[in-house]
Amino acid sequence: MRANLEEKQAEIPLTDRLIRKRITEAHDLYAPWGETLWMDPHISSLLKILELKIAASAKAMHDFGILAACRRCDREEGGSCCGAGIENKYTPLLLLINLLFGKTLPKERLWPSSCFFLSEVGCCLKVRQVLCVNYLCLKLQKLLPSDELASLQQITGEEMDAGFILYEAVKKFIGN
Ligand code: SF4
Ligand code: SF4
Repeated sequence: MRANLEEKQAEIPLTDRLIRKRITEAHDLYAPWGETLWMDPHISSLLKILELKIAASAKAMHDFGILAACRRCDREEGGSCCGAGIENKYTPLLLLINLLFGKTLPKERLWPSSCFFLSEVGCCLKVRQVLCVNYLCLKLQKLLPSDELASLQQITGEEMDAGFILYEAVKKFIGN
């Protein structure tokens, strides 16, 4: 039995083990805490605020043409910036917050050179790391007029602030 487990472990690429462990930890936290967190009025209101901020960022990304440019870059120029290793910036707690939003965490990495969370239709997470929320490659920075760039930074900044406040509140809640 033990040999089987060890064989199975050996089949999982070394690079995937850390994130798989964190995904398991997130599920282990979700089981006892998921419902309790949603029932807590303070956490629940922070979740709703974050949801609104994420929606505002997504709308701005769409309206300013970022989504279309990234889709084109990914499909026609092979230039996705969601590279392997970025998934290791994600803690079990941040993954737990994604589970609270009903997201399904992947079991496998789809492409060896891509982030574990990159799916066929883009990122499978709703609540993302600062690095993922505010990254704009040089090409996009040059493409956007400066007033749109400032406006986008303001909107994504609000998403990051709301995400940080929720993260700290969940950490404190579970710690208690
Ligand atoms: S941010 Fe830049 S490099 Fe990344 S997918 Fe978008 S256009 Fe491509
Ligand atoms: S946006 Fe999503 S898929 Fe892309 S690097 Fe960040 S977590 Fe990974």
